Amino acid sequence: MAENKILIEGSGKHCHVSQSTLYALFGDGFEMEVKKELSQPGQFATPHKITVVGPKRSTDVTILGPCRNADQIELSLTDATAIGLKPPIRESGDLAGSPGCKLIGPKGEIEIKEGVIIAKRHIHFTVEDAAALGIKDKQTVSVKVDGDRALVFGEVVARVNPEYATSMHLDYDEYNGAALSASNTYGEIVL
Ligand SMILES: [Zn+2]
Repeated sequence: MAENKILIEGSGKHCHVSQSTLYALFGDGFEMEVKKELSQPGQFATPHKITVVGPKRSTDVTILGPCRNADQIELSLTDATAIGLKPPIRESGDLAGSPGCKLIGPKGEIEIKEGVIIAKRHIHFTVEDAAALGIKDKQTVSVKVDGDRALVFGEVVARVNPEYATSMHLDYDEYNGAALSASNTYGEIVL
């Protein structure tokens, strides 16, 4: 990481599922395939999709692996509005009171009581990178991006963990809102 430049990655709509949900939707004993390793160590995109059914319509989302303890569907505000849901903006894992939905897979369907969120923008930090910038776990920072739609993202939660690689995660509403692209992928932390 050069100075305080942060790599910014856009996350498309996706979900994390529990083992039991995976089996319910894809059949007992189903094992996820790895389509692509993600920047965070151990995390991967799969070729598997499920359908998230909202009150107005439905949308297909990619499953990210590995399995987690709880089902978590991460949509952009645009995706959520299109299917008739109004999820809260939350950090990963903070699902209490979030809306549920029906999930449909190739081998079955289930109803979840909660789990649909808009991901709160965040930066994953290695312990070393956070220390170099004087940033602590759960601290809120701002990140400035340049370009035709230059802007400052506020309310960015820093998450520091020895298991992480340093990168910032935005959903595509935010990513496109700043006209980020393969040639404009870095932001600058402004405390
Ligand atoms: Zn993330």
